[in-house]
Amino acid sequence: MAFTLSHEHVLITSAGIQTTFPEFVPRDETIEEGVQLFKDAKAGGVDTIFDLTTHDLGRDIRVVEAVSRGSGVNIIAATGTWRDIPRVFWTAEVDEIANLYVRELDEGIEGTGIRPGIIKVANDVGGVTDEGEIVLRAAARAHQKTGAPIYTHTWAPERVGDQQVKIFEDEGVDLNRVCVGHSNDTTDLDYLKGLLDKGVWIGLDRYHPVARPGVPDWRTRTDTAKALIDAGYGDRLMMGHDAQVRLRIASKEAFAERMRLNPDKFLFISRNALPYLKENGGTDADVQNIMVNNPRRYIEGAS
Ligand SMILES: [Zn+2]
Repeated sequence: MAFTLSHEHVLITSAGIQTTFPEFVPRDETIEEGVQLFKDAKAGGVDTIFDLTTHDLGRDIRVVEAVSRGSGVNIIAATGTWRDIPRVFWTAEVDEIANLYVRELDEGIEGTGIRPGIIKVANDVGGVTDEGEIVLRAAARAHQKTGAPIYTHTWAPERVGDQQVKIFEDEGVDLNRVCVGHSNDTTDLDYLKGLLDKGVWIGLDRYHPVARPGVPDWRTRTDTAKALIDAGYGDRLMMGHDAQVRLRIASKEAFAERMRLNPDKFLFISRNALPYLKENGGTDADVQNIMVNNPRRYIEGAS
């Protein structure tokens, strides 16, 4: 795996769009742009990404495969469900959904034989909903049957990771196999240390040069990383941008602007956050842990 970004996306759309309304998504252009962007990332030292795109984000595994093969970047894909939980899941049994994830993990995605390596779940503003809880429990059980680790999307300002951990504990999940993502949307060290003391990994996996209103800017996010390293948690952190090659759930204008404001693309962390971390006392060993050792240990299940 070597140098790994722990939370990125190739293509984000919505469930079923490519099948029903293929003209809505420029697949070939996405592949072409994705290959170029990830070739650049590879030349800049990125070896592997986790692509945490689920079925409800319009995961298109053949696009992901083409981008990986064309660029040489390893891509670990995900099963699970993001925030657009299909209505058919709202009244489903937990095990019914768990079995869907298990099938993808064991046999591969949509008949391709390409097996995901991570189970993604998502809860956002307002915390864990009833249908969100069904999906969390399904992820827990799919993890227990397959050994695949879980990676969560949270809304950290509301400490949603605490709610997720509680449900995973209730399901008897080994918290060493859980990463609580989007944890750098807060600077609340008590919350983050509390999670880490439970034994989870933390994803510091939102990085963009221009801060959105109400969340920390990239330097502050990196200060949080340094504070956690200083508190002894440097061997439990991972980093990513939560960036995309194509994002169709934002307006074309908004996404183009987001890309324009980030000339470094998937190298923003390498060119900005990591140098800033080192200027502020982070060591090469800290960087090696966060970008190389920790993602590998998380996937391997090493403690
Ligand atoms: Zn994401």
